[in-house]
Amino acid sequence: MNAIHTKNLTKEYDGFKAVDNLNLKVEEGEIYGFLGPNGAGKTTTMLMLLGILKPTQGEIYIMGEPLSKNPLSTKKKIGVVSEKQYLYKEMTAQEYLSFFADLYKVKNKKDKIEELLSAVDLLDARNKKLGAFSRGMQQKLGFARALLHEPELLLLDEPVSGLDPTGIKQIRDLIEKENKKGKTIFISSHLLSEVEKLCTKVAIINKGKLLAEDTMENLKRRLTDFIQLEIELTEITKQIIDTLNSFDFVKEVKGEKNILTLKVTSDKDHRAEISSAIAQKGGVVLGIKKRDISLEEAFITITQKNISLLAKGEEDV
Ligand code: ATP
Repeated sequence: MNAIHTKNLTKEYDGFKAVDNLNLKVEEGEIYGFLGPNGAGKTTTMLMLLGILKPTQGEIYIMGEPLSKNPLSTKKKIGVVSEKQYLYKEMTAQEYLSFFADLYKVKNKKDKIEELLSAVDLLDARNKKLGAFSRGMQQKLGFARALLHEPELLLLDEPVSGLDPTGIKQIRDLIEKENKKGKTIFISSHLLSEVEKLCTKVAIINKGKLLAEDTMENLKRRLTDFIQLEIELTEITKQIIDTLNSFDFVKEVKGEKNILTLKVTSDKDHRAEISSAIAQKGGVVLGIKKRDISLEEAFITITQKNISLLAKGEEDV
């Protein structure tokens, strides 16, 4: 089942399409990255998913249920953490969670709060006033608040922006832990390296339109016709180079000391074939390294340069 499915989702502001016919499919159990440059329509989409903004056209299905038909019961399935937490400075962490637990009618409130404070490593700070909380602590408390009513789906808006490396790691671990427990996670973010570390699937939008929705691996593959392999050998011989050059999928072979650099087509993984060809010519492969493009390179290619490259994959989107 899809945790989120948007069908022709559109939002117009005075005739301007901030979100234009968006068809997203977030499968249950996924960590899904929602990316786009400034003004792409990410916030507008998030606000529609949360039922705060009403779409001009289209429908949103959360866990198979149309949001417009049953907004209350559907929204209960969602936990949200925004980029900034709006906290009451004079409240303690315990009081803050207690306030929301009452609002959400959480059963076993005391135990639940204790469990969540412990999960986000804030047990020791439970009686501290929120005005004294660091940015990272505030963000972790936001997570605890979002998890109080045990939602099936977590929507995170820039969850690690402004955090230091320790804070980023703690939030990343928390996201992975919740995902392992079965929660679907939807992350809207600019931090591509973070998304790359966490997400199994990525959507890229620009000017309100979906440009790509695919697994990280496929996305990178679709954006580049070739990849580079670095092969470490005990010794490079002319025979080995000639054999490799005879393959159709090998576009370039360069050798320096005991490292061969090959440019090969990215249609499939050719490493096994290459290793066995080298072995047949008496070579010994000590290691093969693959240099992939990063999500950042893919993002720039998609949003700025080669949008046409994606057209060939559009039918799978
Ligand atoms: P950022 O990463 O900068 O936050 P975003 O991807 O979240 O950008 P949105 O805030 O959704 O983008 O905005 C999408 C487009 O819709 C922008 O061109 C923005 O100017 C426009 N827009 C957003 N809200 C409104 C509004 N209330 N009225 C008119 N136009 C709006």
